Amino acid sequence: MHEPLPFDESETTISTGELPSLLEVEQFLHEAYGHYRHDDDGAVADYIPALANVDPTLFGACIAGVGGNVAEVGDALRPFSIQSVSKAFVFALVCDALGHLEVLDKIGVNGTGLPFNSVMAIELNADRTMNPMVNAGAMATTSLVPGATAEDKWAFIQAGLSRFAGRDLEVDDEVYRSETQTNLRNQGIAHLLDGYGRMYFDPDAATDVYTRQCSLNVSAHDLAVMGATLADGGINPVTGERAIEAPSCKRVLAVLATAGLYERSGDWLYEIGIPGKSGVSGGIVAIAPGKGAIGVFSPKLDAAGNSVRGQRLVKNLSQRLGLNLFASAPARWTST
Ligand code: GLU
Repeated sequence: MHEPLPFDESETTISTGELPSLLEVEQFLHEAYGHYRHDDDGAVADYIPALANVDPTLFGACIAGVGGNVAEVGDALRPFSIQSVSKAFVFALVCDALGHLEVLDKIGVNGTGLPFNSVMAIELNADRTMNPMVNAGAMATTSLVPGATAEDKWAFIQAGLSRFAGRDLEVDDEVYRSETQTNLRNQGIAHLLDGYGRMYFDPDAATDVYTRQCSLNVSAHDLAVMGATLADGGINPVTGERAIEAPSCKRVLAVLATAGLYERSGDWLYEIGIPGKSGVSGGIVAIAPGKGAIGVFSPKLDAAGNSVRGQRLVKNLSQRLGLNLFASAPARWTST
C-alpha cells in the first residue's frame, strides 16, 4: 500500500471534474494492469475450503463511468464469489428500504479496528453490531432485509444486487456449500448478537441468507458497474435502471470510506482517497462519486483480507484519473 507509484505523483490530478476520455481511461488501465501483472505477493484465502482452489494468477480489472462507458482488461469477465463486497450492496438496499436513521440506530457506522469476524469487537463495543461491513453488522443488516421469510429476504437481495449489476446474478453452489459446512464462527456471532438484541430475524436463517449473498458470482466487470451505480446516485449507468434512491448512496459511500477495507481502511483512504469494499475472494470495488467505479479481481490477499494487486492497481488509477476526494483545486472566491 505504501510503495511509491511507478510515475511522478507530483504531476497530480484532482478530484473535481470528470473522468478523462474513454481512450485515455483504457490506456491508463492497460498500463496499470501491465505494471502489476507479475506481482506475486499475498496469499489466497483458504478458511473457506472452496476458495483455496482458485488460480492465484487470475487478474482482471474494469472501469465503468457514470456515462455508461466501460473499459476492461485481463480476466475482467471471470466469475468469482462476491463475498464481503456483497455487504456494501445489501447495506445499500437496506439503508434505502428502512432509511438511513434506522440503520444508524440498529447497526451503527463506526469502525472496529479489528478483523472482520472479530468476536472481541462485539464484546468491547456497546453497539455490538458496529457497522455493516464487518460480519456482525453485515449479518444483522441481512436480518433487516424486507421480507417475512428467509426466501423473501433472499429474493429481495438477489433481485437488488442484480439491479446493481445489470444482469441476473447466480449463486456459486460449491462456494455456498463449502461455507455452509464451515461457518461455525458466523453462526456463533449471529447467536451472540441475538443474545444482545441486535439480530432482527432468526439467527440461523439470517446466517444462511448472508452465506448465500456472499456466494453470488460476479466479475470485475460486474463490480465496476455495481460501483458506478452508487457513483451515479443509484441509477445503473449501463441499463438506466434505478437500484436505490440517490440519498442512500452517500450514506453507503460514507460507511465504505470508514470500514470498506477491513482494519486497513485508514491506510486505504490515506493512499487512495475514495470509498471501496474488498472481499476475501480477491474482489475490490472502488467508487469515485459522480464519476464512476473500478472493479478488480486478483485472489492473493494481504493479512487483513484485501487483494494485494487490487489495491496497487486502484491506487495507481486513483492518482492517474484524479479520483482522490481529498485532492481538489481551491475554488476562486468571487464577489459577484
Ligand atoms: N463469507 C465470508 C465470511 O463471512 C466473507 C468474508 C469476507 O469476504 O470478508 O466469512
